[in-house]
Amino acid sequence: TDTHSVSDFLSGADQKYGAKQAKEMIGNALQKHIQTIDPSVCEPGDEDAFFVADLGDVYRQHLRWKKNLPRITPHFAVKCNPDPMVLRLLAALGAGFDCASKAEIEEVLKIGVDPSRIIYAQPCKTQSYLRYTVKQNVRQMTFDNTDELYKIKQIAPDAELFLRIFTDDSASLCRLSQKFGASMENTQELLTLAKKLDLNVAGVAFHVGSGASDPSAFRKAVSDARIVFDQAAALGYQLHTLDVGGGFMSDTFDVMAPVLGQAVDDNFPSSVRIIAEPGRYYTSSAFTLACNVIARRTVEDAATGTKSYMLYMNDGVYGNFSSIIFDHQHPVPQVLRTTYNKDGFNYSFSESMTDSGYASAEEGRLTPPLDNDRATNNVVTRNPIEYSIWGPTCDGIDCISSSWSSPETLDIGDWLYFDDMGAYTKCSATRFNGFTDRHMTVYICSEAGARALVGM
Ligand code: PLP
Repeated sequence: TDTHSVSDFLSGADQKYGAKQAKEMIGNALQKHIQTIDPSVCEPGDEDAFFVADLGDVYRQHLRWKKNLPRITPHFAVKCNPDPMVLRLLAALGAGFDCASKAEIEEVLKIGVDPSRIIYAQPCKTQSYLRYTVKQNVRQMTFDNTDELYKIKQIAPDAELFLRIFTDDSASLCRLSQKFGASMENTQELLTLAKKLDLNVAGVAFHVGSGASDPSAFRKAVSDARIVFDQAAALGYQLHTLDVGGGFMSDTFDVMAPVLGQAVDDNFPSSVRIIAEPGRYYTSSAFTLACNVIARRTVEDAATGTKSYMLYMNDGVYGNFSSIIFDHQHPVPQVLRTTYNKDGFNYSFSESMTDSGYASAEEGRLTPPLDNDRATNNVVTRNPIEYSIWGPTCDGIDCISSSWSSPETLDIGDWLYFDDMGAYTKCSATRFNGFTDRHMTVYICSEAGARALVGM
């Protein structure tokens, strides 16, 4: 049953149940798709890597957000994963959106979101995009330097401006402060110029770095923001919004959220509106990626005779594994289907397999079995096999894992899958070497409450 309720979730009773059910549904969706594909006869592209997206996971993350940070309205950072179904769901749940470009703003407006729910959170904006925001009535935007203020004065003089301040992002995965954020020494000058230009400064923004891990970075940033609010007040501004940016991760959220919530309450009265720009937090765990093994190479150590195997998949760092390069991720392979594994996802090796059993399992295979998976005397002992995992392009940096060991025999045509592939993956995929950057997504929804919201 999937009738577990939002109130159960909010009481904390239901989190495990939802996740368990989701795992099963994802497994079924992966299996269902690969069962339709026979890589030995299919058309080009049929065996392409594909995603399974669980919108129920996004929904659970939203409820978790509301439970832990009730005062802070999330504005989903579209850059992280501009998946149309995710955008639709979050729009229906009442979230706002952080957009970095004209295309992202367009995408969000297209699904019927009011422009007042969008923040153009890019301190250095393209002029033509700025003209577009004026036409579309998107007024909230960030800035962090004087030249941007002059540009805004020219093109969007009625904008609601958030001064983005510098943060200590040293404990984050992807540092942003080397590129953006006014230092605390410059905020007075920026506010004074904004006043002189008769611009509407409405708030302060910051970002503690993507994949932040030190809660004290939030504490410091919030107290710096308080100083800027006071500087602005002295100049006659009445700032009304604090934007605490992104940087949230599912794994550390329960530690970060209370620190941030407390810092906000300690520094800002309830009349101040608090928003955030979470990206990764919402989508990382919702997307699972399945990839097909297109080739295998045996490597024998000349000295020891030990064999290892290079597996080449049809997706790599120029595709959805761009997160390895840009987002410092280490995706972990899991076996979705091996040719020896007739049961697919729920692999269990319960029966002893005879030599003759193996002979029949080899039928229809391209390659002979690996050394380790032969049965002797009716007993199968499986030593872990050492693999490295590679992408499909001709470039040597296209490596997903230099060392992965598994007891499973993996062959050409088999499938691997990877959890947590929903953040900074497909959005930065390229078509290098002629491979596709448009991988299919199979949508499922493990939460009944979310299904109706996206018409599933
Ligand atoms: N807001 C801005 C301005 C960003 O640059 C980013 C990420 O680069 C985000 C929000 C989203 O960050 P995260 O995915 O860490 O929540």
